[in-house]
Amino acid sequence: CDSTQASGSGPAMTKQELLRYENDDFSWSTELEQNLKDVFQLSTFRPLQLKAINLSMSGKDLFLVMPTGRGKSLCYQLPAVCSEGFTLVVTPLVSLMEDQLMYLKSIDVEAVSLNASSSKEHAKMVLAEMTDSKAPFKLLYVTPEKIAKSKLLMSRLEKAYNAGRLSRIAVDEVHCCSQWGHDFRPDYKLLGILKRQFPKVPLLGLTATATGSVLKDCQKILCVPEPITLTASFNRTNLYYEVRLKDSNSDDSVSDISALIKERYKDQSGIVYVFSQKDAETVSADLQGKGVNASPYHANMNPEDKSQVHRKWATNKIQVVVATVAFGMGIDKADVRFVIHHTISKSIENYYQESGRAGRDDKPADCIVYFGFNDIFRISTMVVMENVGQQKLLTMVDYCQNVDRCRRSVIAVHFDEVWDDEGCNEMCDVCRHGNDYITVDITQHAKDVVQIVELAGSLDEKLTPLKVTEAWMGKGPAKRRKMIQTTTLSRLEVEAIITSLLLQGYLSEDFSFTPYTTYFYLKLGGKAPLLKNQSHSITMKMRRTGLDANTEDQLAAGIKEVVVTSQSPPPVAPNDSSTPHPRHNKLIKM
Ligand code: ADP
Ligand code: MG
Ligand code: ZN
Repeated sequence: CDSTQASGSGPAMTKQELLRYENDDFSWSTELEQNLKDVFQLSTFRPLQLKAINLSMSGKDLFLVMPTGRGKSLCYQLPAVCSEGFTLVVTPLVSLMEDQLMYLKSIDVEAVSLNASSSKEHAKMVLAEMTDSKAPFKLLYVTPEKIAKSKLLMSRLEKAYNAGRLSRIAVDEVHCCSQWGHDFRPDYKLLGILKRQFPKVPLLGLTATATGSVLKDCQKILCVPEPITLTASFNRTNLYYEVRLKDSNSDDSVSDISALIKERYKDQSGIVYVFSQKDAETVSADLQGKGVNASPYHANMNPEDKSQVHRKWATNKIQVVVATVAFGMGIDKADVRFVIHHTISKSIENYYQESGRAGRDDKPADCIVYFGFNDIFRISTMVVMENVGQQKLLTMVDYCQNVDRCRRSVIAVHFDEVWDDEGCNEMCDVCRHGNDYITVDITQHAKDVVQIVELAGSLDEKLTPLKVTEAWMGKGPAKRRKMIQTTTLSRLEVEAIITSLLLQGYLSEDFSFTPYTTYFYLKLGGKAPLLKNQSHSITMKMRRTGLDANTEDQLAAGIKEVVVTSQSPPPVAPNDSSTPHPRHNKLIKM
């Protein structure tokens, strides 16, 4: 299209110029503030909302990229309420349209829609009202098909435009314009007509998922000459992400947490997320016992107690809430300085959301998760009924087990965000500690573990992860010990290897149900047969911390990637010469 036709937003703005739009000294600012509170019943703007709204109110064309649930709709609904005439909203799905109409009705904002299922009378009324200066509606929702196919609609829009009643155009799910996007809709391709016919009307394109090239494509298709693009990243730059290993055998994590709270987070507000209601009670009591001002919060408390805990925490009379995920809805405290997970979340999405309650004020805050082997299986049995529950849990486990990729990049990739490695700024433990890992060949280890699981299978026995761990460490029944290859690796290393085998598909989960509980066993995974192939090898990355001196020397000598095998004395085992190597004394042919 001929971009000279459109008198859009003018030349691209510098960061400095954009800053101006975060202010509240525009002629419309008071009205915005008032309607935000009175009509939308919201107290403050979320990041980027005010900027987007001010830009749009100033007549700029805008693409707004913001994760789902962050509040894109407000960015055209509030301007619509504060402007003369109406806003045209293009939405791809009738169901989305109906949700919005219902919501707007509930807050007394007049909105109407035109789609394939609109009755003739309704359509007639809407079309007539479009040019009526007394028409009450502030938003008109249409499907792109309507724009493409209804000449009548276009002619009424034309009239409304000429009468100065078309105040704004919003194109929701704007990535649907582009064939490069993941959700191309042919009718979106024809929406360029809007900006060509109504060049003076500011256009706002909204999406949660669009890369730069998709946006460029949308810009061309929509005939918007120079839109300003605002991107709310998933990357919360003020949050520091860290994973700490949790010992399966002890409650060290609670001591660790209390020390953190009393020292690093002295007098600062935070949340400790736990797995169960029982954990909320016990961890909270443990922390109190160690002198931390903590209170539990979970779904099974009575409503008064819950709101009292919430209130006291919100007003800093309680420092820490020890909560299940029931503590989430309506939590809007800005100065949360730490969110500690005593147990991993059930998915990266959940973790992102829960940990994301830290640092809403954009000041630095910490997100720490304690990663314990046994917790994987506690959660696994909890999400066993969910469709992709195991898969999602494993993405969280992968986030924790990972020692070589930036935590932010793992989150970003999970949300399909383009990631450049500059984006972390050493604000995660992996980036801060650099190359603190080695690559380990675990092929022989895998064979040992698979043998243990196979042996159990041949004896018609199922092994829990704990049983597998103990068997491999030589703590199983004496008779059985003679039939397997045991290891001298430390417990944490054994757990890390088993976890890695699960993540890589050499082991998999095997559930068993009783009326009272669900048991988790390990069975062979789909990739286990590959181990029969002599040339097949498996590696994993392990933290360097805790490795023996020998390996440390090699690393100091400048060898960054060390490949070790379990044929040589295992370098990841304690360097104890009094322990004979297991391969020599315990291997008995079956
Ligand atoms: P998106 O379209 O980005 O996925 P929505 O516009 O549907 O998100 O908004 C998601 C939720 O966020 C809605 O329940 C909305 O009321 C809420 N919301 C939007 N803006 C704010 C705000 N400033 N403060 C609190 N809640 C908000
Ligand atoms: Mg939306
Ligand atoms: Zn990082």
